[in-house]
Amino acid sequence: MADHGGKLRRLVLVASPLQGHMTPMLQLATYLHSKGFSITIAHSQFRRPDPNNHPDFIFHPLPDNLPSNGLSAGFMPFMQALNDNCKPHLIEYLIKIMKEDKESTVMIIHDNLMFFAGSVAKELGLSFMMLRSSSAAFFPAAMIIPKLHQEGRFPVEDSLLQEIVPELDPFRFKDLPFIKRPIEQTLETLILITPKTPPSAFIWNTIEFLEQSVLTQIRDNYKVPIFAVGPLHKIIPTPSTSLLEADTSCISWLDKQEPKSVIYVSLGSLLNTDEKVSTEMAWGLANSNQPFIWVIRPGSVNGFKWFEFLPESLVTDMKKRGLIVKWAPQKEILAHNSVGGFWSHCGWNSTLESVSEGVPMLCQPWDVDQLLNARYLSYVWKIGVEIVVERREIEGAIRRVLVDNEGDEMRQRAIKIQEKVKGAISNGGCTHSSLNDLVDFIMSC
Ligand code: UDP
Repeated sequence: MADHGGKLRRLVLVASPLQGHMTPMLQLATYLHSKGFSITIAHSQFRRPDPNNHPDFIFHPLPDNLPSNGLSAGFMPFMQALNDNCKPHLIEYLIKIMKEDKESTVMIIHDNLMFFAGSVAKELGLSFMMLRSSSAAFFPAAMIIPKLHQEGRFPVEDSLLQEIVPELDPFRFKDLPFIKRPIEQTLETLILITPKTPPSAFIWNTIEFLEQSVLTQIRDNYKVPIFAVGPLHKIIPTPSTSLLEADTSCISWLDKQEPKSVIYVSLGSLLNTDEKVSTEMAWGLANSNQPFIWVIRPGSVNGFKWFEFLPESLVTDMKKRGLIVKWAPQKEILAHNSVGGFWSHCGWNSTLESVSEGVPMLCQPWDVDQLLNARYLSYVWKIGVEIVVERREIEGAIRRVLVDNEGDEMRQRAIKIQEKVKGAISNGGCTHSSLNDLVDFIMSC
């Protein structure tokens, strides 16, 4: 356990069961453990991490009383139930460890979706920090929605969707989080996710140079330290954080492909599509004639077990050129020399993983921060193209990224960003310094 000047620090990390949140939490935990801190991961029983992958951590399951179908009741009811049900168990656990271990100071680091942990920490008089796994841009973009609503500017008229939001330049109204949802649901969601008590600090899985102006704006508003520690997956070798088993045959298949020839397709761990969207995706992929790896999570196409709705002849033809898998080792795939493009929903982890490997992207965002991330990729960093989900459009976009000169230019820009990422995580780089500052901050609390 870290003992700086006689003070011991015991960190209780309250993790969310969502893959895109669990991964950065375990990566942060691995880093902090390497600095000598004792780590406890408090997690829901639903989608629990595998303790065998992290023998140095204590894992404490919080009974969550959730139905086994978990998220199918809807995202916000699921989140509310998760937070309400885990709360008494976290209180009980913290009281117990504080009684048993009087030598240590307990501190909480909680995932931003496990918001109950902030109020628990406050009730017990403990310092707490919040780990955020979305782009920093999501924060001001979400927080401005109630103001826009009050001023009659949200929901947004169709004629304004392409316009830039003056307060959020370069983001457009159509990039705002929750833009496709009913306004009442959006406002309810925002009330739920807005921090009631500001944490002692934010830890953000982003990179200072990528989002500097937004981070400055958040620092000015919140007046608490913000540690931009991303991309966490590049900081320290971390044992598997995957909640599902990845199909590793992808890597030996990639070894046999030409350099930069393969398109990797994944819409993340949560997004569901319908038969029409997936069928257009399949035809676009097939007609592009490029080798591919396509992740289709079982059950992710509404109403179907896997991809049995696709015509058999199409699937047979596609399989001559590519792989359709249930879950892939994404980080290894993106780091492979055969991969030339990533067709993604632009979740923040996927975005950071692609940016870190210099892979240009095809952007098919749906909600939350994905729309903002897609805007960064296509308009600000110029390393992605926005996709319209229609077979000919898709075919054209794949060829733009993988075959045309435009793709080469995007790749050159992506490689420059990759070099900057390497600089950020190396000795003296912005992420490296932020991590050192974070350790000092924890010791000063
Ligand atoms: N992922 C993976 N294998 C897959 C699909 C996704 O390992 O087949 C991982 C991916 O590397 C990323 C995470 O799942 O770390 C998805 O997070 P992201 O923020 O991109 O999207 P979300 O799932 O939260 O929508």
